[in-house]
Amino acid sequence: MKTVNINRILMYTMIALIAIATYMTINSYYTQLAIYEEKEIFKLDCIARAVAYKISGEEYTELIDKYPSKTLKDEAFRDTSYQKIYQQLTGAVKMTMLPSEMYTLTKDDSSNKYITTIATDSYQWLQELPTSAGLDPVYNSGGMIGRFKTGDGTQYIGAVGPIQNSNMQTVGALQVNETFDSFLMRAREQIYRNIVISLIFISIVAILMFISVKSILTRQNKLALEKIELENMRRELLANVSHDIRTPLFSIHGYVETMLMKKDSLDKDQMTKYLETTLQGTQRLKTMVDELFELSKLESKERKLNLEIFDLAEVVQDTTSGFQVEANQKGIQLKTEMNDRGIKVNGDIALIDRVVNNLLSNAIKHCKNGDQILVHVSKSGQHALVSVKDSGSGISPEDLPHIFNRFHKGKAEPGTGLGLAIVKSIMDLHGTSCTVESKTGEGSSFSFRLPLA
Ligand code: ADP
Repeated sequence: MKTVNINRILMYTMIALIAIATYMTINSYYTQLAIYEEKEIFKLDCIARAVAYKISGEEYTELIDKYPSKTLKDEAFRDTSYQKIYQQLTGAVKMTMLPSEMYTLTKDDSSNKYITTIATDSYQWLQELPTSAGLDPVYNSGGMIGRFKTGDGTQYIGAVGPIQNSNMQTVGALQVNETFDSFLMRAREQIYRNIVISLIFISIVAILMFISVKSILTRQNKLALEKIELENMRRELLANVSHDIRTPLFSIHGYVETMLMKKDSLDKDQMTKYLETTLQGTQRLKTMVDELFELSKLESKERKLNLEIFDLAEVVQDTTSGFQVEANQKGIQLKTEMNDRGIKVNGDIALIDRVVNNLLSNAIKHCKNGDQILVHVSKSGQHALVSVKDSGSGISPEDLPHIFNRFHKGKAEPGTGLGLAIVKSIMDLHGTSCTVESKTGEGSSFSFRLPLA
């Protein structure tokens, strides 16, 4: 399995997401603008038709017929019909709150031009309309003009409603316009608000995606690394095992061969010495095979803990007593210190016994005549604490971080290097750990905790 470069993948994902979000933002801006424009023109169309519908065609025609010239504009302004229509127009502009101008117009059939009549804004009585863009097709029955430009370059959107008499004849039209800039300003405000909301939404989705992709890839990477580590461990284990088996095997082989060759010339003492050395070799091999077997069982996950509640102080005391004779023979003072009685813990007795055994045999191995070993059991909060402290040779700072690794031994040490690896596995199975403090020449202290039952 290959490990994946998470950061690179996440970077590509982020670039892709940013590109998609940018494209979507631009695209959505133009789409929304087109929709808003269509909606706005439709609104103007509705307003134009509604206001035009209220104007009486007869009254409108009568007004134009009464004041047929520009010069009569002042009289026209004062006419009650003019005032009425003018108020309808200004009232509609006010009510709809449109930044719009609204005016009525009439088509002069002789010149084919459009003449403005009543306006809310700038138009005067019987003035020629500055631009009639888009008006022709909608003059008679009303409709949307859409976007158009006046002579000064200002852009508008507009719509027209027909002014009809009681015979449904069109006698004029009402036009509603809005400058495109003012529409754009209002539309942009809303579009930007929509875009910000969708960007926030996209960002939340992106962040969630980012987190989930990262966790998936990290898990995948971890698995790949674990597999590589396992493979390396397997190789290392094979190399160590073959090396450590070969040494005693060669020595056994050598001594047996010598004994066979010299069997007639060797005296009894020499033969005994050779046989004892061979026996030591087989003993070393046996210990190693047993420990390897034990460690592989502990690490295989098949090993289930036989949990039971027991008195830890009692078990530690018994195990320590088993080492008393060996300690006395080496001139080592082995003492126990049990501050608290009845320290009940939940664990596997056989395995905890094994841990104390390994720690004590190591302590005895690394102490000499006159040294001291103190085994201490006490309560510490919700835990029981066991420590094995010796005044022996101590462990060098270079070795200290590695002593719990399989096959790690101090220089010129005779052991297998598996004792502390077994301790670590047992502690792992109990969900705890064994710690060590040591100084070369001053001794070592190994301790572990178990939760109180
Ligand atoms: P072994 O079975 O060979 O003793 P261990 O795993 O038990 O292997 O110990 C690994 C190494 O840790 C030993 O070779 C020794 O160098 C060091 N060590 C362990 N316990 C002690 C101790 N009490 N004092 C000094 N060194 C120790």
